[in-house]
Amino acid sequence: MNAINTALALPVAVIGAGPVGLAAAAHLLARGMTVKVYEAADDIAAHVRDWGHVRLFSPWSYNIDKAARALLEPTGWQAPPMGVHPTGAELYAQYLKPLAATREIAGVLETGVRVTAISRAGFDKMKSAGRDSAPFALTVQTKSGARQDLARAVIDCSGTWSQPNPVGSNGLAVPGEREQMARIAYGIPDVLGRDADTYVGKRVLVLGAGHSAANVLLDLAKLKGRVPTTEIVWAVRGGSLARLFGGGSNDKLAARGALGRSLEDQVKAGGIDLHINSSVTKIDGGTALQVTLQQPGGTTEAVTADRIIVAAGQRPALDMLREIRLDLDPATESPRVLAPLIDPNVHSCGTVRPHGHRELAQPDSGFYIAGIKSYGRAPTFLLATGYEQVRSIAAALAGDMIAADDVQLDLPETGVCSSSLVTTHTTAASGCGTAKPRVAVTAATKAGCC
Ligand SMILES: Cc1cc2nc3c(=O)[nH]c(=O)nc-3n(C[C@H](O)[C@H](O)[C@H](O)COP(=O)(O)OP(=O)(O)OC[C@H]3O[C@@H](n4cnc5c(N)ncnc54)[C@H](O)[C@@H]3O)c2cc1C
Repeated sequence: MNAINTALALPVAVIGAGPVGLAAAAHLLARGMTVKVYEAADDIAAHVRDWGHVRLFSPWSYNIDKAARALLEPTGWQAPPMGVHPTGAELYAQYLKPLAATREIAGVLETGVRVTAISRAGFDKMKSAGRDSAPFALTVQTKSGARQDLARAVIDCSGTWSQPNPVGSNGLAVPGEREQMARIAYGIPDVLGRDADTYVGKRVLVLGAGHSAANVLLDLAKLKGRVPTTEIVWAVRGGSLARLFGGGSNDKLAARGALGRSLEDQVKAGGIDLHINSSVTKIDGGTALQVTLQQPGGTTEAVTADRIIVAAGQRPALDMLREIRLDLDPATESPRVLAPLIDPNVHSCGTVRPHGHRELAQPDSGFYIAGIKSYGRAPTFLLATGYEQVRSIAAALAGDMIAADDVQLDLPETGVCSSSLVTTHTTAASGCGTAKPRVAVTAATKAGCC
């Protein structure tokens, strides 16, 4: 066999058994391809399980991939009611776990193995001649040591959840952040359940202005309802909360609109001590944490907190891709062509133009980043987007370019657009999605919602 045929006999490697990685495997298997799925945790969907207490704002109808469903249905699996919004734990238990247990997926899935580096066999990043026909080489860290596997193509669906952004508005950890780590949590701790003892009756400072922050703040408000000595302080860098308070009834995902509205009600009711235009510049220790907030003019104010919750987004792990030739946007760290469709500096409607293998392809042919990692640092990724990404990539890898290029996406808009955001913290009155019907769109017919 020549090098190209040898490479084609190898599996397509899928990194990460989250919802999109598992969907990728389902699409590849449906096309008769050999697949290998690597999952770092001892069980699938580690990130979803970590935020298992959070209710999704998209109902089941948006959360199930078609090829995955085709594997599940013959097993006697009962589809959950399509209009219901699952929690992350329910997404795992009622969809992802049964999917991973199907004979087809179980046969290609390995858990407890972390891909730590990827290159092309025999080719470091500098070497060009013959590169495209060389298989990929993956360093796989197992419990008994490292090994190297070969693959004909790689789809990196490893997510971003385990790389939270630090506290600093400049993207760096602020002085004291590392030292006070024991009293700082990143992401969405389960303040009403697993982590309640840590937060009940405490003064908690929440940092961030996205849906994760909204979830934390609303849970803390419930905790305060149970134990009124719980205090909630919220600091946001910007001067407007319009994007977070969202499109309200204009949001095509009613639960997402309701999340923002509930938070706005909490703030108006005075249960949250809100500091806008405030960036943390320093965290000092002591019996309570002393946190320095700085306003744009340079004035500072000190707040105290027993605990800090940082819900300031995530970033992709790029170290493992050091030997791969990548073309990423310098700001979003998403594939460059995707960036204008998702960059929150210019676009925030929750929609994205349909896209697939062409937008996600990298200079190293056969390497793709998909799922939430494909958005890099940008927010508003939806599962439906990821499912269409991997359907298109699987078709391209199978050589079916007509199916690969026929990208279709039907995404619910947030009802609030960057261009409609106002500078005071009021709900935006109009949004890009205000009166738009939700229709299936093709790459040729839709150019983004704003
Ligand atoms: C709180 C929250 C709520 C959300 N709500 C919604 C919603 O309502 N609707 C919606 O459509 N989307 C929602 N999303 C966005 C998105 O759909 C989810 O983040 C989704 O989990 C992304 O799926 P994924 O497969 O791309 O990545 P992930 O779910 O992050 O999965 C990545 C997997 O890769 C594994 N992994 C990581 N690194 C490695 C490695 N080096 N080697 C091997 N394995 C690795 C991880 O352990 C993990 O299992 C939400 C996100 C969050 C955080």
